[in-house]
Amino acid sequence: MIDRMHEPLAKVLGARSAAPLAALGAEDVGGLLAHYPRRYGDPGAVSDLARLAVGEHVTVVARVARATVRKMHSRGGALLQAVVTDGRHDLSLTFFAKSPGVLRHHEDRLKPGRMGLFTGVVGQYRGERQLTHPDYLIIGVDAEDEESALLEASRPIPIYPASAKTPSWRVQRAVRTVLDPLAEADVPDPLPEAVRERRGFGSRLAALRDVHEPFDEAQWRRGRERLRYEEAFVLQVALAQRRARAAQEEATARPPVAGGLLEGFDADLPFTLTRGQVAVGQEIAVEIAQPRPMQRLLQGEVGSGKTVVALRAMLQVVDAGGQAALLAPTEVLAAQHARTLRALLGDRAAGGMLGGAEQATRVALLTGSAGAAARKEALLDAASGAAGIVVGTHALLSENVQFADLGLVVVDEQHRFGVEQRDALRAKARTTPHLLVMTATPIPRTVAMTVFGDLETSTLAEIPAGRSPISTVVVPAGKQAWMARVWQRVREEVDAGHRAYVVCARIEPDPPDAGGRAGASGASSGETSDGADLLDLAEAGDGPGADRPPLRAVLEVAEELAGAPALAGVRVGVLHGRLAPAEKDAAMAAFASGEAPVLVSTTVVEVGVDVPEATVMVVLDADRFGLSQLHQLRGRVGRGSAPGLCLLVSVAEPGAPSARRVETMAETTDGFRLAAVDLELRSEGDVLGAAQSGRGSSLRLLRVVTDAAVIEEAREDAAVVVADDPDLVAHPALAAEIADRLDPEREEFLERA
Ligand code: ADP
Ligand code: MG
Repeated sequence: MIDRMHEPLAKVLGARSAAPLAALGAEDVGGLLAHYPRRYGDPGAVSDLARLAVGEHVTVVARVARATVRKMHSRGGALLQAVVTDGRHDLSLTFFAKSPGVLRHHEDRLKPGRMGLFTGVVGQYRGERQLTHPDYLIIGVDAEDEESALLEASRPIPIYPASAKTPSWRVQRAVRTVLDPLAEADVPDPLPEAVRERRGFGSRLAALRDVHEPFDEAQWRRGRERLRYEEAFVLQVALAQRRARAAQEEATARPPVAGGLLEGFDADLPFTLTRGQVAVGQEIAVEIAQPRPMQRLLQGEVGSGKTVVALRAMLQVVDAGGQAALLAPTEVLAAQHARTLRALLGDRAAGGMLGGAEQATRVALLTGSAGAAARKEALLDAASGAAGIVVGTHALLSENVQFADLGLVVVDEQHRFGVEQRDALRAKARTTPHLLVMTATPIPRTVAMTVFGDLETSTLAEIPAGRSPISTVVVPAGKQAWMARVWQRVREEVDAGHRAYVVCARIEPDPPDAGGRAGASGASSGETSDGADLLDLAEAGDGPGADRPPLRAVLEVAEELAGAPALAGVRVGVLHGRLAPAEKDAAMAAFASGEAPVLVSTTVVEVGVDVPEATVMVVLDADRFGLSQLHQLRGRVGRGSAPGLCLLVSVAEPGAPSARRVETMAETTDGFRLAAVDLELRSEGDVLGAAQSGRGSSLRLLRVVTDAAVIEEAREDAAVVVADDPDLVAHPALAAEIADRLDPEREEFLERA
């Protein structure tokens, strides 16, 4: 049997019709049918040509009197002008295009004498009524007779995501051409019979007809519901399979060892673990003592003490003879983690050195930029097992890094790592290593179920006692006196022996001739913004044409502050992604030691940087940052005994939509509350990451944030199906769909939040 759904469009429609569809991402029949209408147009009431009111949405039945294409000399481009008539009254139709060629197909269809239905909004040009770019049906071409044409005309009009070259109506025609001849047997249904029955869904072919050729609104809603469910179900089955496969994998059990490093570490710990740290620690300790790989996501508020939890797990593994790898998203963070771990371990990290504790191990730091000698030593320590703990960035994944016995992989701030990288690291062990993923970005349950669906979740809810409160103040950028006060506050903190971060959205200012607006839009280029997760203007709520001052830049602000009277005699450091690794380390070290107590930086300090003396966080252009990023930034202060202060400098008018984020920040420090507001304010694409929002995305109808109920149901159904039949032997259509939608390259999106 022919695999209809995979037939290339070029074969079915001809190369000329297929080419523009390929540009929209539709290569085969299945791909085109998955190009769902974005919305449905109102067909408009059938009107009399004698009574057409300007501005009204109408459908008229009329005969084509004439149609001519001509070039527009004044404006360039081409124009098709047609006149339709009911015998007594005329109406003109106008189509514009860049070139006459584009208009030829209208000319071919609008042959004088043909009857048709014409739909559009009535306009007026030089006193005459006209429809510009109307939708239309020609009787005898698009519909058999007037009756069926009228029926056609009363149907909701599917409006497709289209391009200038491939307008919606052309997509619609192509869809009909491929959809009409299909039979049930041509369209494999990934939903098992039992699931369809339980949820009251029809076949997939029926659903495709419902969304592409509906007769009324109820029908397309029904079709979308079923297809949306299908997306959730396919995803959840894939995740259930991953969980099932992982559960069958073999891991090396790493039970706690009496009298080991962990016991000694716990005994010497300078603080008491929070109840959450104890509980999660216990959960992890039990799991890594099993011969099955742990797969756990640890969520915890910034400063909730995830590192200690991870270190205790690493020590249990080291005690049991294995090694642990800690992956960090940036070199700055990897270096900091190595420093923190060594400091926490003290003598216990001085293995093989004079003064090292008896069973001491070593913490190796492996980064892409380490010097050749340091790198060689770290590589040797990892390969020989002398280093029980190896810290690094993705450089750890390169092929020449060997481990003696990798037992645990800890990934810090998961959203920067894809599944391939995770798998690459797991491939470096004899048995599957245990996996602990840590994230400080609170993840709502449905997103966790979708994005981290193959991981079990633990949460550290409380913040260690004795943590200082942080107050947050929104500062209007335009008010001179307020800004002066900001730098004065920074000075006061510095004088009290504390440190201050000043975060800017970009590294370099605009060239002088670029003007304010270019400054705002230019900020999204990676070149100057250094990874800041900036919202674009429309999203920030300013509207596209908003006139706002250019974004402040690190280099400019650092220079200003160095010369500011308020900060006279204070050294101002600079940190951004374009510095060499050694310069970054030096900047962080000078800041940490207090030598340069004010640090002007990009968001490179966002994740995990830990300087307990830092008490002030100034964020310039704060209204352009996402909430989770602001939350991360704020988490950099108040980590020591002194209270923290977060100053959000914003140009947004108080009360304006763009001010909502900074105002919410000032209201609460609860990460889960912030995450909820963030999701409300953001679009779906942001939630799932770029991979999910662009074309090629396998989620077209499902909205992870709002479709919680659908995801829950699909997850239940998926669990039943996979428990029964893990390899989907009895469900070939479902297996094929998973392979199709979630090939390994694409499966990466499962890991991005
Ligand atoms: P995060 O969850 O953001 O990674 P960290 O693990 O970096 O948090 O912990 C933040 C700080 O709190 C560190 O300086 C750490 O040593 C300290 N800390 C961790 N647990 C406790 C605790 N139970 N009591 C007091 N301080 C703690
Ligand atoms: Mg951390």
